[in-house]
Amino acid sequence: MSSPQPATPGDPTPNLLQTMDYSIVQQCMHCGLCLPTCPTYNETGRERNSPRGRIALMRAVADGDLPLSRGFAEEMDYCVGCLACQTACPAGVEYAQLLETSRAAGEQAGLLASPSRSVYRWLGLRLLMTRPWLLRLVARLVAIQQQPAIRKTLYRIGAMWLAPKTLRDLEPLAPLIDPPFSDARIKPFESPRSKPVARVALLTGCVQDIAYARVNRATVDVLLASGCEVVTPRMQSCCGSLHAHNGDLDTAREMARRTIDQFDWQSEQAGPLSFAQLDAVISNAGGCGSHLRHYGELLKGDPAYAERAAEWDKKLRDAQEYVYEAGGWQPAACLASSAPPSPAASPAAKPRLTYDASCHLCHGQKVVNQPVELLKRLPGYQFVPLGESDWCCGAAGVYTMTQPEQAQKLLDRKLANLRIAKPDVIATANPGCMHQLRLACREDAELAGVRVVHPMELLAEAVSN
Ligand code: SF4
Ligand code: SF4
Repeated sequence: MSSPQPATPGDPTPNLLQTMDYSIVQQCMHCGLCLPTCPTYNETGRERNSPRGRIALMRAVADGDLPLSRGFAEEMDYCVGCLACQTACPAGVEYAQLLETSRAAGEQAGLLASPSRSVYRWLGLRLLMTRPWLLRLVARLVAIQQQPAIRKTLYRIGAMWLAPKTLRDLEPLAPLIDPPFSDARIKPFESPRSKPVARVALLTGCVQDIAYARVNRATVDVLLASGCEVVTPRMQSCCGSLHAHNGDLDTAREMARRTIDQFDWQSEQAGPLSFAQLDAVISNAGGCGSHLRHYGELLKGDPAYAERAAEWDKKLRDAQEYVYEAGGWQPAACLASSAPPSPAASPAAKPRLTYDASCHLCHGQKVVNQPVELLKRLPGYQFVPLGESDWCCGAAGVYTMTQPEQAQKLLDRKLANLRIAKPDVIATANPGCMHQLRLACREDAELAGVRVVHPMELLAEAVSN
């Protein structure tokens, strides 16, 4: 194993790629099996836009053969971060870790810095996403602004023109805030009707909490129907996935510590509770879950948290994965007992339901078949497969903002597949994907009126019948 060299001759400070475990940088064996799965390589056909090409750049930087440059940082930004290459790779390359480290190295060196970018990053990542009370306060104000009559008036009197252009451009694309938020919909401690078979805790998320709190409520309902006691700590923080995916690993570590602490929590009914007493910690957001499963790696250098973080990783489960695997018992019975279709209804008369896989759920967490199998059990729908379901829809965190052109191409490809599937309902398990598909379907002549939901919402409807 060769030892890493400084990035720039004469610069004694190693960058993050040079201080990371070098065996990860060495994993790629250049076979190219990942190339056909990569959306950016598919678009340009250029080696540097492929997983293999990017890993070669990362290794060159780690070896000190290539300086950290703006071009390097832009290449890492162009990567969708979909992790399809991880699924395809026979060598088990840990691309997610390489990408996060590369982006963090670029941020640390200020390679893409500009005054406006720094302000938006500070406002979004450092101020808003680290303070759940502030996020909710701002969300309440946005909910008022989003009411059609108020929004129309604000535009009519010119008040919206006072906002910076970037915010004005983003405003119509923002997710609809949907109060009440999770704390008002879910009690801190909820018990199933029958004797509990497990005790789990629910992560309510940040964007999920303010825009899709009803998905959190639905998840609790399905878990209760599955015989679980559900503990939901109050006022949860962002898990840090947004920070990690955008090169702010220090804040990502801070958010991971806070999240672990929040699950060492007290309630009158539950008593003192540590996540060590939980059978599972449940995430229902594909992107967050993919990050949440790696707290052990993120905090391995922190003696106060390393052990708890490793324990946390073992408990972290995706909602669909947990319900399906525990489904030999309660959920199957509940779903089977939900209202059967009318005997006269032929499969063709039932609403067509399809599933679009969140990249970070299928490629990051390897939860592939469980959501599909659960959806197929729903008696009131005809399940139809979606071509290229595991191909990114273009949402990819903030990709629609950082790479709008490529994001639109990915979305167009997704819409073409959806038009072939002709669904009445699309189920997808990540807030970013739900939002992206809702906006796109609304504007599409063939898909307008299609309902876009989280699988947990459909399961909850089934168990409530
Ligand atoms: S994460 Fe996606 S876009 Fe990036 S290299 Fe891998 S396959 Fe390509
Ligand atoms: S499949 Fe894996 S080993 Fe092969 S080129 Fe891609 S990243 Fe490297």
